Amino acid sequence: MLERKVRVRFAPSPTGALHIGGVRTALYNYLFARQHGGDFILRIEDTDSQRFVAGAEDYIINSLKWCGINIDEGVSVGGPHAPYRQSERKEIYLKYAQELVAKGWAYYAFDTSEELTAIRSEYEAEGKTFAYNYEIRTKLKTSLSLPANEVEELLKSCNHWVVRFKMPENHEIKMNDIVRGNVVVNSSTLDDKVLYKAADLLPTYHLANIVDDHLMEISHVIRGEEWLPSLPLHYMLYEALGWSDSQPIFAHLPLLLKPDGKGKLSKRDGDKLGFPVFPLFWTAPDGETARGYKEDGYLPEAFINMLSLLGWNPGNDQEIMTIEQMTELFSIEKCGKSGSRFDPEKAKWFNAQYIKAADNTQLAELFLPICSANGVEVSLDLAAKVIGLVKDRASLITDFWGLASYFFTAPTSYDDKAVAKFWKNDNPNAIKVIRDIVNNCDTIVAADCEALVHGYIKESGLGMGGVMNSFRLAIVGESKGPSMFDIIEILGKKETLSRLDMALKTL
Ligand code: GLU
Repeated sequence: MLERKVRVRFAPSPTGALHIGGVRTALYNYLFARQHGGDFILRIEDTDSQRFVAGAEDYIINSLKWCGINIDEGVSVGGPHAPYRQSERKEIYLKYAQELVAKGWAYYAFDTSEELTAIRSEYEAEGKTFAYNYEIRTKLKTSLSLPANEVEELLKSCNHWVVRFKMPENHEIKMNDIVRGNVVVNSSTLDDKVLYKAADLLPTYHLANIVDDHLMEISHVIRGEEWLPSLPLHYMLYEALGWSDSQPIFAHLPLLLKPDGKGKLSKRDGDKLGFPVFPLFWTAPDGETARGYKEDGYLPEAFINMLSLLGWNPGNDQEIMTIEQMTELFSIEKCGKSGSRFDPEKAKWFNAQYIKAADNTQLAELFLPICSANGVEVSLDLAAKVIGLVKDRASLITDFWGLASYFFTAPTSYDDKAVAKFWKNDNPNAIKVIRDIVNNCDTIVAADCEALVHGYIKESGLGMGGVMNSFRLAIVGESKGPSMFDIIEILGKKETLSRLDMALKTL
């Protein structure tokens, strides 16, 4: 048999911001496609109009873009199977629902939601749970219980009929999943899911998903574990539609867990512990907002590297990987069955590694808007120089301002503790001498100035630590930062003198 072309899809429903678990699913699909020279498709599954959220689709597309997950085919780029938005494929699905009814794999049901609620309550009153299944389907208002002419009549007159799958009784559904291995479910435990609804002339998720995966020639379905309970029905649908031979290979990925490992990672965990669970900042139509990794100061490369290892590992100790390396090493077989605990500190660690290795000018580009927001306009060149000096201490792009603001604005106050500790004895006098040394330089060159200042301190017999910390205090306002001589070289002679004068005057 010919090897099938790898075609995978990411098929989110636009119901809100894309959770990082969803981004991981997209990433694994993308890596798998790249590795096999296949196609990565973005399909928007928007047939549930009640859960549709405006803006969610754009959010998904922008998130994938930020992560560097490029779409080969699908919404926003088009392709041979367009349209890729299910609401625009409306007319495709009815015929498959009808085909299933004609073949005896499905039936029409005419119950109103009030009737179903009433039956449910009756069951509950007797301490039983109601399932629409083989035991009940012929006792309710369905095409299996009503005479043919009445069914015809109802199909014309009532606008709330649905098509339900006729899940067979006591049938062993044998499935295979790359992550889970062989799974067997007895069909009697399953209910008759709705496949199509006349009320909005739309299929439900199950039918649309199977029909589209078939029509779009999807070879592998890689998705979250929450869809595992749907797999038996999906297997049955492939069989019922006569598509078993070409059905995709499945892989259900384990959940992303809370940092304490107890349950699925939620927005609430992020809010409580102070980290985002979404790639980008999100504003819901009702105005509610949620923070994002991008705005919190993460580099996309670090973000996806961190995500890639939540559920998969390359089998060695390698942690830092480019997307190309991940593509080379990725394998679904090496994805674990159990959930992966999300570790916000580890996420920061990844980002810090990427910041250290990143190009200073590229980092500066991300830093400039932060400077503007703080009211200072800085040149790219200067920002890059400053970042070169402070980036080893940063975990997030948003740390830069706190680490470097003194390069752009002179201190307006001085750290009390540092003043008490260092600005005493002969140190202020030593600062006057350092002021003269600086004043005698034409321009400040770090190494030259260092030689002169250190020479003087040694000669004076004063403590190096006390004088240098007083110097730092005068220039920075507190006792932090990289080499003083690197700092004053960037500040320049005029600004350095002005800060020294200010400190000598006010302290
Ligand atoms: N629309 C489903 C979701 O929102 C897709 C599940 C699947 O990949 O089959 O996740």
